[in-house]
Amino acid sequence: MTVEAAHERDATDLAAPIEALRTALRGHLLQPTDADYDSARLIWNGMFDKKPALIARCNGTADVIDAVNFARETGLLTAVRCGGHNSSGSGSCDGGIVIDLSAMNAVHVDPETRCARVQGGATWGDFDREAQVHGLATPGGVVSATGVGGLTLAGGLGWLRGKYGLSLDNLVSVDIVTADGVLRTASESENSDLFWGVRGGGGNFGVITSFEFKAHPVGPMVMFLAPIYRAEDAAQVMRGWRDFMATARDEIGGTLVEFSTIPADPEYPEETWGAKVMTLAGVWAGPADEGEAAVQPLRVLADPLLDFSGQMAYCDVQQLFDGLFPKGVLRAYFKSVYLNGFDDAMIDEIAPRAADRPSDRTLCSVWYMGGAIRRVAGDATAFGDRDMGWMLSIDAIWEDPADDQKNLDWARAFWADMKHHSNGRAYLNFAGLGEEGEELVRTSYGAANYERLVALKAKYDPTNLFRLNQNIKPRG
Ligand SMILES: Cc1cc2nc3c(=O)[nH]c(=O)nc-3n(C[C@H](O)[C@H](O)[C@H](O)COP(=O)(O)OP(=O)(O)OC[C@H]3O[C@@H](n4cnc5c(N)ncnc54)[C@H](O)[C@@H]3O)c2cc1C
Repeated sequence: MTVEAAHERDATDLAAPIEALRTALRGHLLQPTDADYDSARLIWNGMFDKKPALIARCNGTADVIDAVNFARETGLLTAVRCGGHNSSGSGSCDGGIVIDLSAMNAVHVDPETRCARVQGGATWGDFDREAQVHGLATPGGVVSATGVGGLTLAGGLGWLRGKYGLSLDNLVSVDIVTADGVLRTASESENSDLFWGVRGGGGNFGVITSFEFKAHPVGPMVMFLAPIYRAEDAAQVMRGWRDFMATARDEIGGTLVEFSTIPADPEYPEETWGAKVMTLAGVWAGPADEGEAAVQPLRVLADPLLDFSGQMAYCDVQQLFDGLFPKGVLRAYFKSVYLNGFDDAMIDEIAPRAADRPSDRTLCSVWYMGGAIRRVAGDATAFGDRDMGWMLSIDAIWEDPADDQKNLDWARAFWADMKHHSNGRAYLNFAGLGEEGEELVRTSYGAANYERLVALKAKYDPTNLFRLNQNIKPRG
């Protein structure tokens, strides 16, 4: 039997070990007959209706160790879930066990050392709320319900990235339960090979029970940039934005442009409902008053249709877009490609394609990837090369299952047509359904990092227990 076939064993003949696990856990072990099962199995992407045999709602490191040992010994297919937002659905599985960390969401911030300890199931909303008590923040994502776990382990792109880098660049250490059920600390000075690997290698090496991050003084008020331009002005605005970023300070290095359609929502003037637009968004990662003047040129790159720029609380900015992404009801396919620069020809190709989307819910964004991100060497972390400069993300979102094929086809065709502007690398948190398998994973890490990751995988997870992810297959 192959290793992977062993993991596909079903749960029906496991009554005794299941009972032993149930008794051992401080948290709960849910099965399909339990009342909470359906809400517990829900993940963000409504495309997936996965039905695990077991959901181990862990409540501490000892629970995680028991769950990992159970998974390895029984050979059940194993998923690890933090915020449940991975759009490929990797946070759950059919017929196997989900190691659900969502109850492990404690955050402790030390204002003296400016370090934050975050349990492995916390969301960025949990993190920001506690860190802002001390006027601190670490780069996270732009939606507060996303998990610290998945987002950090594969990168982490948020508003503060120009000044403070990727989320993973701010890691000081992790506590991780590897496939052998052993709890290890990984940092620059302890298990440094593993520390290198988790900074980009996703969930391939084990279950992180605790992250330790550097935090930085941010807020409580920040300057938020959000002029909304008409889609027909998008190319002009993108040129102006690109030229501005060439000499911009790191404080505004977390900008992006996002193509969207204004919803029929009373928050927007009624005459703008249904308008196809492009928002230029960012946060000044410094004093808000200074930011107000510094971002002004980006608010007049064309005549904006609306402008939501202004000073606001950092925690509010972090939750501003949450309403657009309700859990479990939308269907989604997120795909990305790093761009080789951002020249006029590229802009002229991207603008009309991004504006012409089959679903009004779909977003297309170009992310600036300069500043602090770029100053980290490609081999310093598993994440890989930092020379990309810009990233296109195609976030297809729709509601009706009957529209699945139309939206998937559109996103895949757009992505394929833009690949000639890149070296083929993708941001692995936006990797579609992982349908390219090893090819996209290898390209995205780069050959040298990939080989190092494969060797690490063989050392820490030789049977590929943790394989529901952007998988790195172990080879001895
Ligand atoms: C609405 C929305 C907004 C987003 N915005 C951003 C953004 O602004 N910036 C950005 O960079 N990305 C963003 N993303 C992408 C996001 O980073 C990924 O989807 C990420 O995987 C989500 O992490 P999660 O913990 O919520 O997901 P989960 O589905 O819970 O986890 C994803 C994978 O990560 C691994 N994992 C998670 N936690 C752990 C852990 N503690 N130990 C070991 N492995 C673990 C597992 O392999 C798991 O399969 C967004 C996604 C969505 C749906």
